[in-house]
Amino acid sequence: MRVGRPSEGFAIMTKQMVSRLMKSGRFEITETDIPDAGEQDVVVEVASCGICGSDLGMVRASAGFDGAVLGHEFSGRVVAIGSKVEGIANGDRVTANPMVNFIGLGRTPGAFAQYVRIPAPVLGRNIFKLPDAIDDEAGALIEPLTVGLHAVNRSGAMAGDKVVIFGTGPIGICVLAALRARGVSDVLTIDPSARRRGFAQEMGAKAVHDPVDGSAVTFISGHFGSAELPYEKEPLAQADIVFDCAGVQAVLDEAVLSLKHGGKLMLVADPHDIVVPARLVMLHELSIIGAVGYEDEFDEAIAMLASGDVDLSFLVTHRFPLSQIDEAFAMQRNAEQAGKVLVEAGN
Ligand SMILES: [Zn+2]
Repeated sequence: MRVGRPSEGFAIMTKQMVSRLMKSGRFEITETDIPDAGEQDVVVEVASCGICGSDLGMVRASAGFDGAVLGHEFSGRVVAIGSKVEGIANGDRVTANPMVNFIGLGRTPGAFAQYVRIPAPVLGRNIFKLPDAIDDEAGALIEPLTVGLHAVNRSGAMAGDKVVIFGTGPIGICVLAALRARGVSDVLTIDPSARRRGFAQEMGAKAVHDPVDGSAVTFISGHFGSAELPYEKEPLAQADIVFDCAGVQAVLDEAVLSLKHGGKLMLVADPHDIVVPARLVMLHELSIIGAVGYEDEFDEAIAMLASGDVDLSFLVTHRFPLSQIDEAFAMQRNAEQAGKVLVEAGN
């Protein structure tokens, strides 16, 4: 296959390096054919690809993903286009909505590779052009920002709402970024990692809390007020909306004690087999709302980054070449050090 590289004219290249997840939970770098752009596809030369919490989950369940090429948070440059594809040109810088074709999610090969194929690209649906104001690294952050934006859309949060985010890893920070862009300024965040509390401060949290310093409910009460109830030993905090971006039982237990009557509990992190304290949900007429992935928020996320309303560049703490993808994953698991870790195929 002839792959056009805009910077160098056309060169004949047929092989690429990809990383495959093995049953052992480690990656193997192998040489393989560069994917073909069938009539309906485009092939993208990967610039940067972020490691997602869901990637860490797939590595933990690696037996079910043997040989898969992961990587779904990517930016890159179009280098081959099928004859039936419209509206996209060689050299266009793009990102993709990976959920449309499960790119890098276990089914369709993803972008921890030098090249990735986007099947049946439709501009504005599963492929998006990047304006010049969004560099390759910011381009790899569009997908997680879109997750945050979708969660905020699901919550209906508006300026003036009192909001709490439990967990300020990359997704919690993207929720915070989307809230701030919407004019929601009363946002408290809670995270045991000093690094992650620092990210939240950088993104404009009103106050941050380390659970080691005491109950989150007391902390939230200090900012948003509290209510005494005859059937509760301790007063409840009075947040309008709580986002769970941590996915652990202790957070859910505190979340239901942090919401005012009629408040909303947003489940953003994968709660696995966590139990939601149902009695308080009933007594306080709480709403529990799930949020996963995104629907049509890509254009808005791109506009937020391009305008400068949202700047997530501080979140990128580490970059690794594809050949060190195991080290990259180990770093992403280190909440005390890592924000977003990017893998760069280094074409
Ligand atoms: Zn992701």
